[in-house]
Amino acid sequence: MTTTDKPWKFETLSVHAGYRPDPVTRAVAVPIYQTVAYAFDDTQHGADLFDLKVPGNIYTRIMNPTNDVLEQRVTALEGGIGGLALASGQAAVTYAIQTIARAGDNIISTSTLYGGTYNLFAHTLPQFGIEVRFADPKHPERFAELIDANTKAVFAESIGNPLGNITDIAALAEVAHGAGLPLIIDNTVATPYLLRPFEHGADIVLHSVTKLLAGHSDATLGWVAAKDPALADRMRFFTVTTGMTASPFDCWLAERGLVSFDLRFDRAQRTAETLGRWLAGQAGVTRVLYPTRDDHPDRARAQALLRGTGGNMLSFEIEGGRAAANAFAAAAEGVAFAPTLGDVGTTLSHPASSSHRGLT
Ligand code: PLP
Repeated sequence: MTTTDKPWKFETLSVHAGYRPDPVTRAVAVPIYQTVAYAFDDTQHGADLFDLKVPGNIYTRIMNPTNDVLEQRVTALEGGIGGLALASGQAAVTYAIQTIARAGDNIISTSTLYGGTYNLFAHTLPQFGIEVRFADPKHPERFAELIDANTKAVFAESIGNPLGNITDIAALAEVAHGAGLPLIIDNTVATPYLLRPFEHGADIVLHSVTKLLAGHSDATLGWVAAKDPALADRMRFFTVTTGMTASPFDCWLAERGLVSFDLRFDRAQRTAETLGRWLAGQAGVTRVLYPTRDDHPDRARAQALLRGTGGNMLSFEIEGGRAAANAFAAAAEGVAFAPTLGDVGTTLSHPASSSHRGLT
């Protein structure tokens, strides 16, 4: 039994999954294997490694022991098979689509998306002949209407960035599976601490590990895994040939970040809820969106899917356009005004002028 198979709680898995003190050095902390390649004994050894006849390391684009710990650790938390650490969250999204769709194919996606994913879908994938059709996640039946013989997957974020809308994963899974298609879920904002999409019908789950999982705004990483072993194998081969490899040092930073995940996340949720209450009482704040608030459109789904909690991302609207946004950012002393989320400290972002400027 490996550490990954044990029936441990989230808090224990996030500390231990994927690593036991290594047998040579007995190092308690995960070592950083900052190497490009690994030495072979002779030509036969090298050939046997390449043919997968013997276990061992070959080349970091193909495997790396530090990266392997992150792959196993997130897989232990999220489920799925063959979790892969990739160079960024965007690499994970690109990767999930390109493993299954070719020129001439299409995918159906929710219209409420992180701006970078929207740009990938609306502008970059079409350059490779892959069309993305968008539908409002409030109406799963619209997805069924858009599916045709060339559709290869359905895509959604479990909690949409930045609106905090909560996707009915089971309803989308029913639509996708009804047409024989995989459902891909970006679980970045929810994290497996709140929601494990594989348990609700997802077939591929991915993350921007850059955000909450690593949690310190110092590592850029992605992770993706599948439910189907054949698809997981195809994904691993694809990473070797396309080279979206994660940096071992960044993987190590994320492993270190994960150790304190539940403490950071619980605290961040409390802060988000408190800020939401405070903001709702301020003159000039016209809307506060947080999943546990009575006026959140998806409150019932949050109760059912997110264990009644709301996560660490809070959205709000203020009167006065860009000038008011600038004044707010300038007055929010000690809060970094930056296009990210999931840091240890509170960060503030203005999606319309940054991450989501490609959307209407
Ligand atoms: N998915 C979501 C929901 C995100 O919020 C982000 C980034 O903000 C990404 C994917 C892309 O991740 P990365 O910046 O690591 O490429």
